[in-house]
Amino acid sequence: MKYVISLKCRIRKAVVIAFGLFSIIFFSMGISVRADEPFVIVIDPGHGGENRGGEHEQYTEKDLTPIVARAMKEELEKYEGVEVYLTHDIDMDMSIKDRAMFASEKNADFLFCLHFNMSVNHNLFGAEVWVPATGEYYSKGYSFAQIQMQEFLDLGLYSRGIKTRINDRNENYYGILRYCTEERIPSVLIEHCHLDHPKDQPYYQEGEEQLKAFGIMDATAVAKYFHLRSEILGVDYSDYTVPETPIPADIVRPDDTEPEVSFIEVMDIDEDTGEVTVSVDAEDSDSYILYYEYSLDGGESYSELNEWPRPEWNTSLQSNTFTVQVPYDQPIDLRVNVFNGFDLWTESNIISMEAIPDPERLKREAELAAAREEELRKEQEQLQKEQELESADRDLEVVMPKEEVQEISVEEYTASEEDTQSLLFVVIILGIILLAMIFVAFFMAGKIDLLLRDKKRR
Ligand SMILES: [Zn+2]
Repeated sequence: MKYVISLKCRIRKAVVIAFGLFSIIFFSMGISVRADEPFVIVIDPGHGGENRGGEHEQYTEKDLTPIVARAMKEELEKYEGVEVYLTHDIDMDMSIKDRAMFASEKNADFLFCLHFNMSVNHNLFGAEVWVPATGEYYSKGYSFAQIQMQEFLDLGLYSRGIKTRINDRNENYYGILRYCTEERIPSVLIEHCHLDHPKDQPYYQEGEEQLKAFGIMDATAVAKYFHLRSEILGVDYSDYTVPETPIPADIVRPDDTEPEVSFIEVMDIDEDTGEVTVSVDAEDSDSYILYYEYSLDGGESYSELNEWPRPEWNTSLQSNTFTVQVPYDQPIDLRVNVFNGFDLWTESNIISMEAIPDPERLKREAELAAAREEELRKEQEQLQKEQELESADRDLEVVMPKEEVQEISVEEYTASEEDTQSLLFVVIILGIILLAMIFVAFFMAGKIDLLLRDKKRR
């Protein structure tokens, strides 16, 4: 069966070459000539039936992928030289192997498997394309995926990259890629965006038209890859340059090691706004840095994931500076984790910072202090007034004794007169006493004289 197909392919190629040469020779023009046989495109809407896929709010993956797939088919059919099939067009269970077998039966040139993503912690966002890990399937898948990724970037989605994933038997992890590779059909698995992340939700939640736009976008990437042209659409990708991917000699393994470097420095602390500017150095030599998250409590809790600056989807800058608003009045233990394209992360060093005082609190405290000072000033003023009143009273009291002194001096003057009078009085009294004594002495002398005279007569 495979031999028959390969033989058929060779014949087809030979016919194309011969017809091409014929055209060049006979028309002497560089007209691009299409093969008689159209390219066979198989579109596989992910999930269906009991296999619901990702579910978020009212959105279920198995309901979304057919809308994208039908729009993709409808758009592709506007191009010439293409035959398009859906693995299933009704809501039904279909094994992964049956989808690959369906593509094989149709002799598909490529299978495009459409999905929407979700993450366990609801923290991842962006679009990604998974490709087979070996040989020409890797090469074709990777070349197509680069066109598809550019479409995602143009739409505004964040690129999570173009990747391989291997199971423990060294096979493609995703069944559809594994079975398609077994059936010798190039394939890719397109994860359009994450149903459960607010950064991706604006790309699919605004109605069915957005899902159809995804389908048109996917069809355009396919048209570019196969150099299709459409008269209906008025586009011609005949000359489109498809990125070349060398066929790898060995299995292309995913990056299974964490980023080698995650080192942080605090560049600036704005005490007024509480904004801390952090510089992060990060490196992953096997892939690229995809996201970063920061912790203010030494790794107890983290911010949401943020986009790391990347000049191209598959490269990343070595350093990134970001500003974070830290809570006031709390000591901060800053740490930054960086994630590579394969969701492996490395923790940075921790930088401990003293609490930044809350300017609002400081303002309130200053206002309170000013109010208290004002109160104190008023109290002191009152006290001063009272003291002034008291001292005025005392001044009056001080004046009063002066008058008293004068009075006293008058009194003294009066007293000195009185004293003179008293002295006079005393002198008079003494004079009277003296006179009385003299009188008594004369009286006594008279008596003695009489007594002596009596004696002589005897
Ligand atoms: Zn899915």
